[in-house]
Parts: sequence; C-alpha cells; structure tokens
Amino acid sequence: MKLKKILLLGLASALCLGGCAERREAAQHMLENQKMENRHEATSFAMDTIMTFVVLHEDGEELIIDAEQEVRRLENLLSVTLEDSDVSRLNAAAGKEAVKVDADTQTLLAAGQSLGEKTGGAFDIAISPIVKAWGFTEEEHHVPTQEELEALLPLTDPSDVILEGETAYLRKEGMAVDLGGIAKGYASDRVAALLREKGVESAILTLGGNVYGIGTKPSGEKWEVALANPLDADDYCGLISIANQAVVTSGGYQRYFEENGKKYHHIINPATGYPAESGLLQVTIISESGMEADVLSTALFVMGLEDALTYWQENGGFEAIFVTEAGEVVATEGADSCFAFEGRDNDFTYRVVERN
Ligand code: AMP
Ligand code: MG
Repeated sequence: MKLKKILLLGLASALCLGGCAERREAAQHMLENQKMENRHEATSFAMDTIMTFVVLHEDGEELIIDAEQEVRRLENLLSVTLEDSDVSRLNAAAGKEAVKVDADTQTLLAAGQSLGEKTGGAFDIAISPIVKAWGFTEEEHHVPTQEELEALLPLTDPSDVILEGETAYLRKEGMAVDLGGIAKGYASDRVAALLREKGVESAILTLGGNVYGIGTKPSGEKWEVALANPLDADDYCGLISIANQAVVTSGGYQRYFEENGKKYHHIINPATGYPAESGLLQVTIISESGMEADVLSTALFVMGLEDALTYWQENGGFEAIFVTEAGEVVATEGADSCFAFEGRDNDFTYRVVERN
C-alpha cells in the first residue's frame, strides 16, 4: 500500500511539471486513488442471508468487523432457530412463563406489534406456527392441511404477546414469534448507527433484500440500488438512488417451494394461513428506517396493490415500488423521483401514483 502511494505521488509530481490542466488532473487522480484505498468491502453469511458491507473510511477494515459482530449479536438474540436466542427461549416458555429479554428484543417485539396493528394485521410477529407448518423454518417444505392451519390460526394473535418491563410472555401454549420479516431491517439500522457513531459518512450495507446507504458515494452521487426483476434473477427493472435511506424488497420469488406443480412462497397472509396471493410479485419500500421498510415490504405484499396504496396515502413516511402479476411496475410519486425505470426488453409497463 505504502509503495503504491509513493509511486502515485511520484507520478503525480512528475505530471505537475506539465501544464495547469495536467496538474489538476493529477490532483484529481490522486484524490480518487486515496478514496479507493479507503474503500473496504466484506461479505459474510448471517441471519440466513448473504451480507455485503462496503465502508469508505480509513479504518474500514476494523469497522466492518465491528459491524459483523453487531449483526451476530442481534442474530444470537433474534434467531428463531438458534436454541439459546431470546426468541427461542420466549417460544419455549409459551403458555408457561414470562422470560427476561434483551432491550433490542423488547424494542423489536414492541415495534413489530405496533406496526402489525397499524397495518391491520397484515404484519404478524406471532405468525411462526404457520410459517413452521409450511416448513419454511426448518427448510422441510410441505403443504399443510386446512385443518392443521385452522388449528394454528388462533395461536397467531400478536396481542397475545405480552410485553412488560424487561420481560416478554406468549399467552398460549403453542404460540411462537418469528422476526424474520423485521430483524434484518432493524439490524441494518443498528449497523448504520454504529458506523455513523464511529465517523463513517459513506457506506452501503446489503443484508439480503435489505439495503441501507449511509451518506452518498465518495463522489457525492447517490448510492444506486438495482430493483430486481421478480421474473428473472439475472435481470433488473431499474435503478433506485438513495442517500441516508433504506431500500427493502420482499417478493414471493425470494423463498418458495413447488408441490404438485404449484408454487408456495414464504410470505403468509395472517388472515388465511396461506401464502399471500395478492396479485403482487414484489414490493420495494424506500424509507429512512430500515426496520419500518422491512415490515412494510412484507405487510404491503400481503395487502395487495390497492390497499397498499391506500396505506401509503393515509400514512406516508415512506415510498414504494410495486411489481404486479399483470406486469405493471407502479411507483409512488416520491419513489418515482429517485427511480430510473428500465423497461428494456422485459414486458413491464410503468405507472406513477400521485399523492392525493
Ligand atoms: P420478508 O422477507 O422481509 O418479506 O419477510 C418474510 C419472512 O417473515 C418469512 O420468511 C417469515 O419468517 C416471516 N413472515 C411471513 N409472513 C409474515 C407476515 N405476514 N408477517 C410477519 N412476518 C411474516
Ligand atoms: Mg420484511
């Protein structure tokens, strides 16, 4: 690294012997190179997904390790599969006793519960028994019977999650919470806060379908996030530009299995216990809160386009891009202003919805 710097300096001063334009160009060159030297990137696997953190900072290498540790810490609290997690202990004590949980777990349960209410039950932190019945928790997929689902639905009422002081309690035996639809968004917020505290002004964090951009690129341009094409994993539908914002995408194509020629995906309609069939292929939320974006990408997918747009009109605080089964890409007004739709040769059409 040092040698490279010296060589670059040498090159730069050699160029400076030339005219003014060359000097400016060389200075620019050096600046760019310095920025690149401060660019650190690492990929890891956590929370059941691939995470890539890019941090522009001279201490980036250590800061990424801190960031990964923070994700692990949260995973150890929130995982539904790790035996000693807060969530597993809470689930094991369902119908029996209250358990003491970490402040982060408490925060997330409370936020999940209140956003669940706000979304009219489309988001449900107590959905776990149904998610398990479909085999999504243990990756042993199968279609449960109607009777099975009907017996489980009464165990999924989020108001039976009782939060008191530092404890949480599931009122009925057989209940269980699953924070899979909110934990990664929360983790992105926590990591962003940690990096900002340590002076990071430019970073992009990717936690599966959850992306968070701190500041802008070193050039001052916004971060660009590709909007996945839900019908083709190798393609995308356009670019979303963000600064100090989260972009979170949910879609049935992200996790599903096939039985007897029919596809069953992992986003459950809490009203029926079946994978949501709302006419949507994909929902993307843009928001300053990664956690809220995570919840809403799941909840608005369950709601379907019409109810989701009503929710947006009535609540605001976020923007959204929907892809429908009919092949339409629908952007809210604010999303449109930071989204460059690319129709290319896929058959999607594009429409913008204005705020009332
Ligand atoms: P996401 O990938 O953020 O859309 O979240 C989907 C994950 O959240 C699933 O894999 C389940 O673990 C869980 N989940 C599924 N349906 C719901 C729902 N209606 N409300 C809350 N969490 C859900
Ligand atoms: Mg989600």
